[in-house]
Amino acid sequence: MVTQRGTENVNSDDKHDLLKSTQFIIRKALEKLGFSEDVYELLKEPLRVLTVKIPVRMDDGRTKVFTAYRAQHNDAVGPTKGGIRFHPDVTEDEVKALSVWMSLKCGIVDLPYGGAKGGIVCDPRTMSFRELERLSREYVRAISQIVGPTKDIPAPDVFTNSQIMAWMYDEYSRLDSFNSPGFITGKPLVLGGSHGRDSATAKGVTICIREAAKKRNIDLSGARVVIQGFGNAGGYLAKFMYDAGAKVIGISDAYGALYDEAGLDIDYLLDRRDSFGTVTNLFKNTISNQELLQLDCDILVPAAIENQITEHNAHKIKAKIVVEAANGPTTIEATKILTERDILLVPDVLASAGGVTVSYFEWVQNNQGYYWSEEEVEKRLEKIMVNAFNNVYQTAVTRKIDMRLAAYMVGVRKMAEACRFRGWV
Ligand code: GLU
Repeated sequence: MVTQRGTENVNSDDKHDLLKSTQFIIRKALEKLGFSEDVYELLKEPLRVLTVKIPVRMDDGRTKVFTAYRAQHNDAVGPTKGGIRFHPDVTEDEVKALSVWMSLKCGIVDLPYGGAKGGIVCDPRTMSFRELERLSREYVRAISQIVGPTKDIPAPDVFTNSQIMAWMYDEYSRLDSFNSPGFITGKPLVLGGSHGRDSATAKGVTICIREAAKKRNIDLSGARVVIQGFGNAGGYLAKFMYDAGAKVIGISDAYGALYDEAGLDIDYLLDRRDSFGTVTNLFKNTISNQELLQLDCDILVPAAIENQITEHNAHKIKAKIVVEAANGPTTIEATKILTERDILLVPDVLASAGGVTVSYFEWVQNNQGYYWSEEEVEKRLEKIMVNAFNNVYQTAVTRKIDMRLAAYMVGVRKMAEACRFRGWV
């Protein structure tokens, strides 16, 4: 292991570009599907974006005002659905792009939802438990008019978890004066959460890795895997890969990366990481995140933040398969370079759709008041993800296009048709 440290930051121009590149691909996908320009105009951004200012009493007695958003892309297919992230770099454009991606994810795995996303500009790493609780409750009060079990259903995302969902659920139930478990997903099991929700994103990514490896004749046992990010998705994924007999040779967090050619001891690292997925601070010998991405490996999984693989480093990626567990880790230019280099790229909107799929299962269970076993959840998730992967893969092969454009085509079709049937376009 060698020494070097680095931190990541995505600036607001990059986030604006995220929305622009999503729109660029949506336009292409709709064109290929034969939809008119009107459909693109309708789907290129959210139908509704609410911006709120939330005053929160901090532990020192002062009031701090937080900015927060909820973007609802399109509800033609059904209520909107998507997580809430707590992060200092949240911007309106990012939340908008993420809401569009949620629509695509729901389309790809064929859920009866449109996409949404929420975000609060804050740094939960510097806030106390009680401050986080007050912020979570105030956010729900601020957006309560536009959310609800049949309108828009929130869930966890970056730096939010089942405890935060529990506070939000409780706050909404108080406002509504009865228990509304279907208002939010990703809840703790005892409050109507679903088995398998915590690990669902990573399970979905694991299924995509397995299917992609089959296409490229890579044997998973002994395969060298590099994972960028050690939070919810990255952490579970490292464990699943390790348990499947793969060699996880690199992992990282926001401060640096660990590398061991012989394979890292994932159980040990999971044991030592904090609740924000930080673990590299405990080690002297680390490499940078950029070095991690360029490691010689079979499978590379960016599971952290946006814009990590760009035209500057795409030429240097040595993996045979790249599976995007994070939202937006690869730019359009980098997608082109990787595809030209015959690296199989499984896009975010497909690879990370396991989370919202099990969220849907949670909502279904809440609505029917009947709860499924872990095996039942796994069986259903497996079926949905395998179908989605093969559907996108076949579209890419038949149309001779990359997997990202194929995923957008699969993801946007139902929504475009629903808008047409409703007479919106
Ligand atoms: N935040 C997750 C995502 O980006 C899950 C959303 C949900 O479960 O609704 O897919």
